[in-house]
Amino acid sequence: MTDAAFRNFIDGRFDEPSATFDSIDPSTGAPWAKMPAATEADVDRAVEAAHRALHSGPWASMTATARGKLLVRLGDLVAANAGRLAELETRDTGKIIRETRAQIAYVGDYYRYYGGLADKHEGAHVPIDKTDLDVTIRREPIGVVAAVVPWNSQLFLSAVKLGPALAAGCTVVLKASEDGPAPLLAFAELVSKAGFPAGTVNILTGFGQDCGRRLTSHPLVSRVAFTGGPTTARAIVRNTAENLAYTTLELGGKSPVVVFADADLDSAANAVVAGIFAATGQSCVAGSRLLVERSVKDSFLDRLKRKAEAIRIGDPQDPATEMGPLATLRQRDRIESIVADSLADGGRLITGGARPKDRTDGFYYAPTIIEASDQALACMREELFGPVLTVLAFDTEAEALTLANDTPFGLASGVFTSNLGKAHRMARDIHAGVVWVNTYRAVSPLVPFGGYGQSGLGREGGLDAIRDYTRSKSVWIKT
Ligand code: NAD
Repeated sequence: MTDAAFRNFIDGRFDEPSATFDSIDPSTGAPWAKMPAATEADVDRAVEAAHRALHSGPWASMTATARGKLLVRLGDLVAANAGRLAELETRDTGKIIRETRAQIAYVGDYYRYYGGLADKHEGAHVPIDKTDLDVTIRREPIGVVAAVVPWNSQLFLSAVKLGPALAAGCTVVLKASEDGPAPLLAFAELVSKAGFPAGTVNILTGFGQDCGRRLTSHPLVSRVAFTGGPTTARAIVRNTAENLAYTTLELGGKSPVVVFADADLDSAANAVVAGIFAATGQSCVAGSRLLVERSVKDSFLDRLKRKAEAIRIGDPQDPATEMGPLATLRQRDRIESIVADSLADGGRLITGGARPKDRTDGFYYAPTIIEASDQALACMREELFGPVLTVLAFDTEAEALTLANDTPFGLASGVFTSNLGKAHRMARDIHAGVVWVNTYRAVSPLVPFGGYGQSGLGREGGLDAIRDYTRSKSVWIKT
């Protein structure tokens, strides 16, 4: 694909953009492609096309089984084009090729899963206490969906929205992030190839302040599915005061990983390192707060330090690279500033804390570990979205639980122990939408995902996600 090919996809057509912006290659810091900047007028056309497709034309009268087949075909096309999509995502976001390949390999499964469910999502018959009235509950598509995603894992974060929305019979306008939109704009070609009727799925990119705001406040939008940061989430909620759209929010985290002394420490160390440094820490579920039992703290930190210093940092397109750059300069500036504040406030640097010396171009930052003596440090409280692990020791199970829950977030968590009772107690009492025990970062289309507290509202994944894209209609018939 050449850069000339990046276009917004509206009403079944690839548009000539009226304005463009430069997309930056994070491994060099230089522009590499022009991206279309959707205007508010483009957003209006996309939403109107989605509204038309919802109410008239082939999609509106298509059976659920036929809709499901289109979704399965799309899943197959994603799988068949995974290599090209992975290369584009790596180029545009700096996420390393072995990670984009591994993730896109299962994105197709999400479309196939929801395709299979499209005709298995049933309404109900209600046995009310009357013999002359028959009540059924129909489940109807909720309407036009505005899906807004951040730059990290855009193909995956779109699949968990488009899959259930299309299975439910909705139509969608998907806004790719202005940072790294290339893989989603390329994905639009697969939507077109799969044969979805014009207007069913519209994909565009542009800036949050105009294009994102117009999309999420549009009067013809009934459902907003957002993934991104908490400040944007608040802006989105204000936008939806205009259209009263039903909204789900998948936000950030400061996920605790609790390592007890009785754990298999080698396996826990591997999981902790992958849990924080994968995707250069730019993952909503990054295990960024390590709570480790004091009796093993020093030996565990030694293991982590050795592993962090052995990580091969380099060109994200090289399959041997284990950690790439941050996606944007803005990201690296923010991380540098929070790390500096945390060290000035008493954090003890175990490793990292600087740009790698041999990487002068691009937005690189070394894997960093900081030890804290309480949870007051900024790097313990704020989501950095970077390769920074903060470590705090605890003495008892009760203290570990209190520390784990001492955060306004509640997205993911990890517990490492060989004690079954302890594992069950921690899993029950941790305030987070996901608890991984003796593992980290496992995902499946079959399993719901979402946060507690400031980490969000609603769930994506699993059976129930389809229901969230429907509304019920109660039909009372006098018999
Ligand atoms: P962001 O909130 O800055 O941007 C997300 C999207 O919102 C972009 O497409 C942007 O253009 C759009 N946007 C910005 N302002 C808007 C407005 N006023 N109205 C409508 N849309 C607007 O997020 P980011 O920096 O790109 O991504 C990082 C954040 O995403 C982190 O906080 C991370 O934890 C979170 N995230 C969460 C999950 C999850 O599933 N919970 C997954 C990945 C990332």
